[in-house]
Amino acid sequence: MKRILVTGGAGFIGSHLCKKLLQQGHKVICLDNMYTGTYENIKSFHENKNFDFINADITSPIELEIDQIYNLACPASPVHYQHDPIMTAKTSFLGALNVLELAKKNKARVLQASTSEIYGDPLIHPQTEKYRGNVNTIGPRACYDEGKRIAETLFFDYQRQYGVDIRVVRIFNTYGPNMLKNDGRVISNFIVQALNNEDITIYGDGTQTRSFCYVDDLVDGLIKMMENDNFSGPVNLGNPHEMTVYELAQIIIEKTGSNSRIVYNDLPEDDPIKRKPVIKLAKEKLNWQPIVSISEGLDRTIEYFKTKI
Ligand code: UDP
Repeated sequence: MKRILVTGGAGFIGSHLCKKLLQQGHKVICLDNMYTGTYENIKSFHENKNFDFINADITSPIELEIDQIYNLACPASPVHYQHDPIMTAKTSFLGALNVLELAKKNKARVLQASTSEIYGDPLIHPQTEKYRGNVNTIGPRACYDEGKRIAETLFFDYQRQYGVDIRVVRIFNTYGPNMLKNDGRVISNFIVQALNNEDITIYGDGTQTRSFCYVDDLVDGLIKMMENDNFSGPVNLGNPHEMTVYELAQIIIEKTGSNSRIVYNDLPEDDPIKRKPVIKLAKEKLNWQPIVSISEGLDRTIEYFKTKI
């Protein structure tokens, strides 16, 4: 049994991770400032004596005794991270600094939830971990992209300078239950719109692509990366099944039997045109690959949103 800190533990991915770690019998300390996390996501854990919740912001230093840290705290949907971009940059940088200091004091292993956004609007396709990215440093996505890039830099400098035991994963688009209804991301938007028979809002012409990973697969990858003893990363975690945003809209309309029409809005500035992970490294080093198909994952996610609408 380990004492594990999950920052951002009340958020979408964090809450699934807390649940899995509790099932494995660990002591879980969830730290969240509830900016995009919700009490609903962690409500069921409170009866478990191994669960503790701390309402705090990772931009302030943390004092705890722990064995492992998963650093997931940061708004991750473009709508939310662009709402207060300076806070997003501070959360990425100061959050990384504070968890690294805590890991150093405790001699704990610390995993950073990095992102495919560090590749920006990628000029190579699909993306391997060797690709260094194409980020607009002054655009609206930069607060998140560059925040996550400097966080990776800090992680590797703490490893080189202080020997901190780090793990870095780059998470590609992930979906599933516990996403917010107003998350603003494409899968939650389309499902909520379809279930309400409202217009489905495609940004741009819908030919841009993404590759969507079901949250259970992702959590499995996070834990495998934390538990492996001789590989710091960075490693891509995502589902290589690539599709256009238009195809996604069609599948969701069909699955929900919705009367929604598709409408076309402007493509947001710096919206990446293509995204698909190469997961060869995760397969080799972690023996990990996603197993939930997009069809199965969407069915589960649609069932979840039906209970929320
Ligand atoms: N998107 C869309 N309609 C929506 C929300 C998003 O067409 O209601 C598009 C968005 O422009 C992007 C893709 O879907 O091309 C994925 O967007 P999301 O915000 O889910 O994640 P991103 O990968 O951009 O961070």
